[in-house]
Amino acid sequence: MAEKLLLHTLIVLCPLFLYTIFFEKREGGGVYRPYLCATLQGAAVVLCMSFPIQANGFNWDLRYVPLLLTFLYGGLVPSGIVLAVILVFRLLLGGDAVAYGMVGAVLIAGFYFLLAGKFQTLRPRQRVLAAMGISLVSCVFPFGLFFLYHGWNGAMEQGSVNLVLFALFQAAAAGFAVSLTERTREINLMRREIQRAEKLNILGELAASVAHEVRNPLTVVKGFLQIMNEEQNEKHRGYTQLILSELGRAESIINDYLNFAKPQMQKVAVLHVVDVVNEVVTLLYSYGMKNGVEVECCPLDGLYIRTDKNQLKQALINLVKNAIEATPTGGLVQVCLAEEKGMAVITIHDTGKGMSKDQLARLGSLFYTTKDKGTGLGTMVSLRIIESMNGKAQYHSTPGVGTEVTVSLPLCDV
Ligand code: ADP
Ligand code: MG
Repeated sequence: MAEKLLLHTLIVLCPLFLYTIFFEKREGGGVYRPYLCATLQGAAVVLCMSFPIQANGFNWDLRYVPLLLTFLYGGLVPSGIVLAVILVFRLLLGGDAVAYGMVGAVLIAGFYFLLAGKFQTLRPRQRVLAAMGISLVSCVFPFGLFFLYHGWNGAMEQGSVNLVLFALFQAAAAGFAVSLTERTREINLMRREIQRAEKLNILGELAASVAHEVRNPLTVVKGFLQIMNEEQNEKHRGYTQLILSELGRAESIINDYLNFAKPQMQKVAVLHVVDVVNEVVTLLYSYGMKNGVEVECCPLDGLYIRTDKNQLKQALINLVKNAIEATPTGGLVQVCLAEEKGMAVITIHDTGKGMSKDQLARLGSLFYTTKDKGTGLGTMVSLRIIESMNGKAQYHSTPGVGTEVTVSLPLCDV
């Protein structure tokens, strides 16, 4: 019996180990794979059910622990698959209590389903206890059916002590599995955070030195080209125009890098937010027109913040530009102002293509872009600047409908 208990515990923990050791994507946001999860947990269920623990003619196993884990961490599709595996395998095993076993599984799955949402809102510590509680309470269903099947006296003879033992052991296993899962998640999160910080550091240093060296000659070249532009025939003027615009692009990328390396707060002053927003909108109005997108401003007077104007402008320009670029011809980009709990709130709303959850998760990571000529720096720079101003930025996006970026910055007294 003890060997079987250990075996079952091992089976239940196996999916977690396999997943973290072999399948967890090593970098970036851990890509979640529902079918892999279903396969691993489904295999655990089959193994559990293949080696039932027998005591006083009463068979039990830990099949519901993988099911619970899938409901808590895997989502609906894998949970459905694991439930199906339990049902089919139970059918194959046969015996005279097949119907009871299957009804029990469905009832338990329903119970897990109801509680899974609530579980997500708990903190890691509470989760372990919650999982144990859920597991313990869920035993009501198979036990009820067990009594129904054997009748009260029969069931008591069969082994009521076993039932209690089983319930406790199952709860312990579930708690153990959940606490390991939470620990591994925490460690992975930490590792990712460290990797990110390291990357930022290296890039920052590199960017600062290279960008600085390149910017000066670029300015010289640009200046002379401008002079040449005035003295040339039509054909050559077209070329220099092109060179100038590409130089402008190079310059803005370099500025992005420099900014990214160190958002520089050079001239901190009290700003009237509506002025800055108006400037940004005016600046990008023609850019919007070129793309067939209307850029609109809904101003609000009386909001003052203390920060560097150029930095704030840079941050807003990147965000508004993204909004324009995401919006198809005929669309609308609105930049609105509001006050909320001592913060100036700037929302940039577009009717563009929006972003999926995956894209949202990757947004703001280095070099992430979906554009041919994109750099994947703009959002990152904006977020860094806003962060350095003690502000917050939040994205809400629906694919096909649009995106809303909410930037909140602390107000100051005038
Ligand atoms: P770039 O603009 O050079 O691609 P960004 O860091 O500014 O780099 O943006 C990264 C990516 O985020 C974009 O390529 C785009 O796919 C996505 N994105 C950013 N803002 C929006 C938005 N408002 N709507 C849709 N997608 C967006
Ligand atoms: Mg951009």
